Amino acid sequence: MKSLVLEKKDELSLRDFPAIDRVEERLGARDVRIRLHTVGICGSDVHYYTHGRIGPFVVNEPMILGHEASGTVIETGAEVTTLKVGDRVCMEPGIPDPNSKATRLGMYNIDPAVRFWATPPVHGILRPTCVHPEAFTFKLPDNVSFAEAAMVEPLAVGVHAATKARVKPGDIGVVLGAGPIGLVTALAALAAGCARVYVGDLAPKKLEIAESLSSAIIGVNVARENLVERVKRDTDGWGADVVFEATGSPRAAAGVFEPLAPGGCVVMIGGQPDPISYDAGAAMVREARVENIFRYAHVFPRCVAMLNSGAIDVKPLITRTFDFDDSVRAFEIAASASPADVKMQIVLPQ
Ligand SMILES: [Zn+2]
Repeated sequence: MKSLVLEKKDELSLRDFPAIDRVEERLGARDVRIRLHTVGICGSDVHYYTHGRIGPFVVNEPMILGHEASGTVIETGAEVTTLKVGDRVCMEPGIPDPNSKATRLGMYNIDPAVRFWATPPVHGILRPTCVHPEAFTFKLPDNVSFAEAAMVEPLAVGVHAATKARVKPGDIGVVLGAGPIGLVTALAALAAGCARVYVGDLAPKKLEIAESLSSAIIGVNVARENLVERVKRDTDGWGADVVFEATGSPRAAAGVFEPLAPGGCVVMIGGQPDPISYDAGAAMVREARVENIFRYAHVFPRCVAMLNSGAIDVKPLITRTFDFDDSVRAFEIAASASPADVKMQIVLPQ
């Protein structure tokens, strides 16, 4: 099966990957077989390509990339009841152990045994077909395209972050970082009820895209304007109710409490490969609540419902689309981190 394979750090190839046919393509009674349609390129895919590892996850043998996906059901297991052949679907890429303590407690995303696409040693889905549990496969309404559906995975991160923040109607939000995750977080914060969301970044093009998403999003170019002063000025010195850290930069994280209002909440989203400093004093005087998120849980159906109703529109975030045959080039472009691109996607032959 022709797949996009990360052979090792800095080396990608589009080639047959026979091992997948034998092991991962066996259809269980509660699984569906899916023909992949659209796959988004995630920062994590690019990081494995350019660094060969993310924290403890190391690429030691060839691995198929990709985890943000939509497709069509082409076969169903004997006990599948909610999906049928021909259904258009998106898939949640992390499969926990159904019997683990974390899963039984409802925190299946932090089950230590979770198997997540394109996280070594688990293969991703930049390949023609995959087998996936019915329970982690979600039917799409007719008005949600395959491209939008492949955005559900990153959107889920933003929706999980806004859920953990417990956003209330009329809250003022701040998002540090206007990458794909920062922007889906801004959209999720607005959908959750924020009156306004300030998005801080250095890239003018990304801020332009941020502001185009909603008149309630205010882009702040942090190279030219002090974000903390701006938020304080606009809130009579009070600050923002919720601050989302979506840069993964130790420097941004160190200042994360500065724009926060007394009693506010900080949500740490951006991954930090190394320990970082944390201004405990600034958190203390605000009695700040700090939440950490790891991917998401229980939010895919909510994301699909918001795309369906129009409560959230992710289409402006998709800035480039490539054919599967061009996917090595797509990753080279993604690795160059062009400041004008938010989300790039790859479309597979049908
Ligand atoms: Zn992703």
